Amino acid sequence: MSTGTADTTETKASESEPEEPESALETARRQLEHAAAHLDVDPGVIERLKHPTTVHRVAVPLKRDDGSVKVYTGYRAQHDDVRGPYKGGLRYHPHVSEEECVGLSMWMTWKCAVMDLPFGGGKGGVVVDPKQLSDGEKERLTRRFAEELRKFVGPKKDIPAPDMGTDSQTMAWFMDAYSMQEGETIPGVVTGKPPVVGGSEGRQEAPGRSVAIITREAADYYDLELDGLTVAVQGYGSVGANAARLLDDWGADVVAVSDTGGAIYDPEGLDTHAIPSFAEEPNAVTKQDAPETLEDGSDILELDVDVLIPAAVGNVISTENAADVRADIVVEGANGPTTFAADAILDERDVEVIPDILANAGGVTVSYFEWLQDINRRTWSLEEVNEELESEMLSAWNDVRAEVEARDVTWRDAAYIVALSRIAEAKSVRGLWP
Ligand code: GLU
Repeated sequence: MSTGTADTTETKASESEPEEPESALETARRQLEHAAAHLDVDPGVIERLKHPTTVHRVAVPLKRDDGSVKVYTGYRAQHDDVRGPYKGGLRYHPHVSEEECVGLSMWMTWKCAVMDLPFGGGKGGVVVDPKQLSDGEKERLTRRFAEELRKFVGPKKDIPAPDMGTDSQTMAWFMDAYSMQEGETIPGVVTGKPPVVGGSEGRQEAPGRSVAIITREAADYYDLELDGLTVAVQGYGSVGANAARLLDDWGADVVAVSDTGGAIYDPEGLDTHAIPSFAEEPNAVTKQDAPETLEDGSDILELDVDVLIPAAVGNVISTENAADVRADIVVEGANGPTTFAADAILDERDVEVIPDILANAGGVTVSYFEWLQDINRRTWSLEEVNEELESEMLSAWNDVRAEVEARDVTWRDAAYIVALSRIAEAKSVRGLWP
């Protein structure tokens, strides 16, 4: 099962199917147990965190363009809201399942807590291949899904955002349907909207920007010069392309990038701005001139580079290829690109893995800025957004780094420790009632 991207990017399943069918939920639960072992936290809190508060399952009937009616299944998993409203994306993908939504909602809980945002974790979606729908069908599906979820979402309850297969237009339809029914315009019900209806400047680029910021910090931490740092990026959707272009601008050599059609490689560094992202032109990577083309895009994971950024789908680094990863540092742009078992192999081989819940958290962080702008009816400039994002990412990086140094744990465990400590403290202060 693919677990996917931090935001809208490519929508295709993994290029090489992993041999271990680890679901997002299994991975998330194992990671939780692994990190909890380092913490003196009430076991009752850990037990509670293994289960979502609620999962809404709804039928979403759609009148197709040909007049026929088809019923799709939609979910919204609400994992935990001890620190604030549930927050997380909505994805449209044929592999969406209840289990996947729950696992991804757990990651959102930790992601928001690592970033110290006043949100909990949620995730949802519709089991549908959006590529098979016309724009009109997508709009009707989204409006009906919004109506089915209307009682469970809201700026103070649960705030969806774009994810795999959805985008700012999807959020605009969702917001409009919700607002029409509530009788007033309520932009804060979703984030990732177009700026003209309350979206934030810089939101779309934010996950890629945070991946680039964290790569820069990780390189510095391990005494690697950013200038000439060799980087390979799997996936050239919004996360991968934005991260690659920023790192390129900052002096790194992005030597390889891939999409579902394959990978291109240039030891001197590619011109990342000249390569169209998935949104600019789908599957365009291998159409570019480059000294070398790798037909199997997943070969990019085994290149000898300083930093590998898996930014396509989930479960791409598994026991099948973890021993072949030659990068010194893996910075996770996608959600859940590394399986639990692969993590152990990479750790053994001293490959540092900077986890998704820190690296791609720029998306939800700028979602938080968007929510603030919506509530206050005051927009921020792109400069303000990027400055605030930089400072939030550095502060989270420093919190996680402090745990790595104090406890001699992996970056993933350290990020979980930061998140769990905050959540456990909130749970213990609020108590268990009734
Ligand atoms: N879907 C994004 C993620 O996985 C963003 C969620 C949000 O902004 O709420 O982080």
